[in-house]
Amino acid sequence: MLTVLYAGEAGEWGEYAPALTQALDAAGVKARLVLPGAAAPESVDYIVYAPTGPLSDFAPYSRAKAVLSLWAGVERVVGNQTLTQPLCRMVDEGLERGMVEWVTGHVLAQHLRLDFWRGAQDGQWRNDQAAPLAAERQVTVLGLGVLGAACAGTLAGLGFRVTGWSRSPRALAGITCLSGPEGLQAALRGAEILVLILPNTPETENLLNAETIALLPKGAVVLNPGRGTLIDEAALLAALDAGALGHAVLDVFRQEPLPAAHPFWAHPQVTVTPHIAAATRPSSAARVVAENIRRGEAGAPFLHLVDRARGY
Ligand code: NAP
Repeated sequence: MLTVLYAGEAGEWGEYAPALTQALDAAGVKARLVLPGAAAPESVDYIVYAPTGPLSDFAPYSRAKAVLSLWAGVERVVGNQTLTQPLCRMVDEGLERGMVEWVTGHVLAQHLRLDFWRGAQDGQWRNDQAAPLAAERQVTVLGLGVLGAACAGTLAGLGFRVTGWSRSPRALAGITCLSGPEGLQAALRGAEILVLILPNTPETENLLNAETIALLPKGAVVLNPGRGTLIDEAALLAALDAGALGHAVLDVFRQEPLPAAHPFWAHPQVTVTPHIAAATRPSSAARVVAENIRRGEAGAPFLHLVDRARGY
């Protein structure tokens, strides 16, 4: 009988306990699920982890074979010196579909200027202001991993001209794929709608800054469902105020919850959503966790292993 420690967010235990129990059963894994304090650390075989949970010192968990993150982004644990076990991040269908829906919804809202039309019910017949077709709109997606590639594919399927950018070269049907520092400039030039779906690493910090914003066409729209650290906030606000950028739709922030006094809340050209672009759904996430435990016990390689040196 394995011991699986739930070190996720305490308030989500009520949902995760039945979901994990059911998923472990379905995967044929015999395990008891425990909360911190309910089992000796050295008896724990696997750790289900979230950065909003109670665990920051992994050293006592000497027998643990893996730390299984419920979050896709692992920046808050990847550099933890006490973590010597393999670290797996969350990749799951619920997360992916959520991100595709959030990105597609906001891209279409910006493309069709839904906010403008909501505010234009003033009796004036502006029939010369139809939106261009998607085929006439350039969208660039920075980050072509699990989430970025899914979003880019859906946008291309709607007819948008889609360019994607990643660290290593990628080939995706219907998408102009660029990579590396040299590909970034070309990816930004002409990007009328820019979507940031990159992880938070030292290399991606402040990727969108005054210099890179200046490469975007005037009036470009920025969507950030990646991480708050990707954006130099002062540069973004200055560009919005100067009209260099048209709008920003931001889901993630350097400080979360976003402080009530932060200028993003009141800015007329900023849409704030509270880190809800892609939530981890307990039922599907539990299946991913259970499958990784099954693999660990069968001697198969873990899925979604984080490259500690790369940071994601
Ligand atoms: P992923 O599969 O690891 O993909 C990351 C992508 O970013 C890859 O294409 C990678 O390039 C690229 N990349 C990383 N560092 C780069 C660099 N320095 N230069 C250029 N490209 C770089 O991650 P994912 O599952 O798609 O998730 C992406 C991020 O979304 C997560 O890290 C998290 O921060 C965020 N997220 C947000 C929410 C939300 O609710 N807002 C939910 C889930 C995730 P390679 O292809 O070459 O590796």
